[in-house]
Amino acid sequence: MNQSELETAVNKRRTFAIISHPDAGKTTITEQLLLFGGVVREAGTVKARKTGNYAKSDWMEIEKKRGISVTSSVMQFDYHDKRINILDTPGHEDFSEDTYRTLMAVDSAVMVIDSAKGIEPQTKKLFQICKMRGIPIFTFMNKLDRDGREPLELVNELEEVLGINAYPMNWPIGMGKGLKGLYDIYNNRIELHTDKPKFIDLDDEGNPVESLDLMEDSIFSDAMMEVQLMKEAGNQFDHKKIETGDLTPVFFGSALTNFGVKTFLDAYLDFAPAPSSHVTEDESVIKPNDSEFSGFVFKIQANMNPNHRDRIAFLRICSGEFDRGMDVTLTRSNKKIRLSNSTQFMADTRENVETAVAGDIIGLYDTGNFQIGDTIYDGKKAVQFEKLPQFTPELFMQVSAKNVMKQKSFHKGIQQLVQEGAVQLYSNYTTGDYILGAVGQLQFEVFQFRMLNEYNSEVVMQPMGKKIARWINPDQLDEKMSSSRNLLVKDRFGEPLFLFENQFAERWFKDKYPNVELTAKL
Ligand code: GDP
Repeated sequence: MNQSELETAVNKRRTFAIISHPDAGKTTITEQLLLFGGVVREAGTVKARKTGNYAKSDWMEIEKKRGISVTSSVMQFDYHDKRINILDTPGHEDFSEDTYRTLMAVDSAVMVIDSAKGIEPQTKKLFQICKMRGIPIFTFMNKLDRDGREPLELVNELEEVLGINAYPMNWPIGMGKGLKGLYDIYNNRIELHTDKPKFIDLDDEGNPVESLDLMEDSIFSDAMMEVQLMKEAGNQFDHKKIETGDLTPVFFGSALTNFGVKTFLDAYLDFAPAPSSHVTEDESVIKPNDSEFSGFVFKIQANMNPNHRDRIAFLRICSGEFDRGMDVTLTRSNKKIRLSNSTQFMADTRENVETAVAGDIIGLYDTGNFQIGDTIYDGKKAVQFEKLPQFTPELFMQVSAKNVMKQKSFHKGIQQLVQEGAVQLYSNYTTGDYILGAVGQLQFEVFQFRMLNEYNSEVVMQPMGKKIARWINPDQLDEKMSSSRNLLVKDRFGEPLFLFENQFAERWFKDKYPNVELTAKL
């Protein structure tokens, strides 16, 4: 690709994540979006689809059992003149670290809200991460086919609870069984809730150009009044504010009945940003159109396909063009790596990617080279992107192999799952016994399940409960400082830390050793 071809290709990319509280309809809307575009490639998995093309993630029975999605996946499709990358995120809060990292790899986010429930705890958390990153956030108020809360109330809630200005792009006419359509403010038309999509244009005064039975209905005049109110007293549309994440365009619809979803997608693509620049650790800015290739690994996942025991490192391309077979440098080790045949998207037919550009996500077949947060680049100047956020675990568990004869698979499983970032691994400073750390309980359950299913290793876990993890400067360490209330352990890099029983234990320690430095993160 020459420079202008690269620029054209990059500008076509739209890479975003859908965030929501579990059950708001993220999967349903993702599936609708995929139907609008012919799916090009799929890295990862999506829940069962009637067409049969998208088999439910079979590597992880636990998803089915618990009815939650705990893995992220990446889907790519073409729609009109755009190439769209959707990154799915686990909705359950116990996997927020995974979601957090995934959100580092997108340029915008779509927030799906159940209109009967409004903003739920997980919506709020995920929103705050997006807000911190300053990326544009688009809101889809879902399940309009069911009776929900008043639209005005829902929009106000965005402003009051999340503190973001909202601009309705359309407005429901009725709701639940009485849903008649959408007053499409952005396109100045009415979208009727009929089996086939039907649109009626509005004249300059906002009246339908055709006469409609609907106009006699009080539901219609109520909606008109509310729209008028929004126009007069609400926020002004402001593209700049959308770009900086200070204003969220709000769309209403029903993912299940595919009402308003296409309207949403079309308008979304008018405003969603093309791939953005990325900042490196030494604060230089890497532009997506830079001809030299660079990217970072935001996720590693083992055994996505039980037929191919493998590991995939998910890479967000930040600049330039990826070509299969290219040589790149892994910044952390300064090692050259050839991204050869092993580079592929996960799909039913394990398709190889020949080329990809900034904004795209590719899956790199990994034999143990990569770690989460790694940067790779091509070119003379070394690039290291900013560190990905890491959560300090709060829950701990002692872990051992049930069958002492099976130590080998136990160690292999632990090593791989830890490199994936599924859980954190520590060891008792004196005995060397393994201790797992997690943000949420479900991470342990998934770990135990996967150890058995993927590594044939039955593990015994003994809860240690909540602890406060604090790293200590190794030069100041004296093993005698350890007690039952502040257990001394090593992290997987060999760095020492204490697991404090509670805040009192930590305070007691600080009083006793006032000069010892303790930090919450390595
Ligand atoms: P996720 O957990 O956010 O991925 O939610 P799902 O897409 O799995 O949806 C959760 C449940 O809500 C499923 O039973 C869906 O069929 C249902 N659902 C999703 N969208 C709609 C909608 O627009 N209307 C109605 N009535 N139900 C919906």
